[in-house]
Amino acid sequence: MTAPVRSGVVIVPVALGARSYDIVIGHGVLASLGARIAALRPGAKTFIVTDENVALAHLATAKAALNRAGVAAQSFVVAPGEASKSYDVLEQVCESIIGAHIERGDLVVALGGGVIGDLAGFAAAVVRRGLDYVQVPTTLLAQVDSSVGGKTAIDSAHGKNLIGAFHQPILVLADTALLDTLPVRQFRAGYAELVKYGLLGDAGFFSWLETNWRGIFAGGNSSVAREEAIAVSCRAKAAIVARDERETGDRALLNLGHTFGHALEAACGFSDRLLHGEAIAAGMAFAFEFSARRQGLVPKAEAARVIRHLAETGLPTRFKDIPGPLPSVDQLMELIAQDKKVKRGMLTFILVRGIGAAFVEAGVDPREVRAFLSEKLAER
Ligand code: NAD
Repeated sequence: MTAPVRSGVVIVPVALGARSYDIVIGHGVLASLGARIAALRPGAKTFIVTDENVALAHLATAKAALNRAGVAAQSFVVAPGEASKSYDVLEQVCESIIGAHIERGDLVVALGGGVIGDLAGFAAAVVRRGLDYVQVPTTLLAQVDSSVGGKTAIDSAHGKNLIGAFHQPILVLADTALLDTLPVRQFRAGYAELVKYGLLGDAGFFSWLETNWRGIFAGGNSSVAREEAIAVSCRAKAAIVARDERETGDRALLNLGHTFGHALEAACGFSDRLLHGEAIAAGMAFAFEFSARRQGLVPKAEAARVIRHLAETGLPTRFKDIPGPLPSVDQLMELIAQDKKVKRGMLTFILVRGIGAAFVEAGVDPREVRAFLSEKLAER
């Protein structure tokens, strides 16, 4: 496992040459937002994009932190939820930024979960051909995953995240105290992304999570475990992004659980029936079971251990954990084929040789996937 972090503020650098930036992690670090922005971009104005839930809980604190450092702040609040990653809402955000006279040299601040980070980040990428922006992630998923790495996007009628850009932030400020207002189901969904780092490349971190997950969920003033888990995850993501900023190689490993997960999410209509992180949890359980089934790539006991941990935190790992009607195997295969282009009749999956040992497999026969899913559906 990566070296443990000390309590207090942790800084994880993302090394991308001229586009390098810091991820600042700690309890209460939102109070330093203004001072950090004033130091990075003296004299810059800011434009905060957030959603209604986050605005209620944290917008006033964010504005106060900016004002204290003499940084001007205007804001725009969108409806919460995936539906805000749309052309309509993007247009409103872009027009508001332009209307607020935010110029090159000023900053957009994305204050919210992954939806806000993706939407505000993409608006920043396109308004005036590119404005700088700061990520202030307020969900666990956003703190360990979506705020780092510069992928920004809105959704298309053809699928999620199809209209987007790579646009790195100039700072990520992850205040772990903000997670105390997050509904527990959302927190748990973000925990799945945290487990992902252990499963894809850090077996020691996975073992540590098995022991410490209750402390991570508990939070509060003294949640060193929470800060440590977020810092380890951010280090893992920063290292992968530094190696492969534009996902031409290694970065694909971050998609562990996503092929099955996206199909499940789509089958549930991207609704509250199955949150993104919940779908990834089930997808990772499936990826381990599929790897175990496929020429015994991974011992069955190891897959069972992964499933046991995900399930003990309350995350879904089987079809029967997903409420409501599910599609047929044909529909699931269709969704998988839409998500992953079939190359010469074969699918690409992130598979595993064990906990902490994920790899890209480009030669997965769709018939094998169909047989596996049929078995899983029959368990229901
Ligand atoms: P989200 O942004 O919709 O937030 C979840 C819910 O929690 C929302 O209702 C929001 O209003 C509420 N909320 C957020 N912070 C809160 C807080 N501190 N207190 C109370 N309520 C709060 O969802 P998410 O799970 O953070 O992100 C999912 C999105 O992230 C998806 O659109 C996904 O595609 C995207 N994503 C992007 C990347 C990337 O690399 N860019 C990676 C993973 C996921």
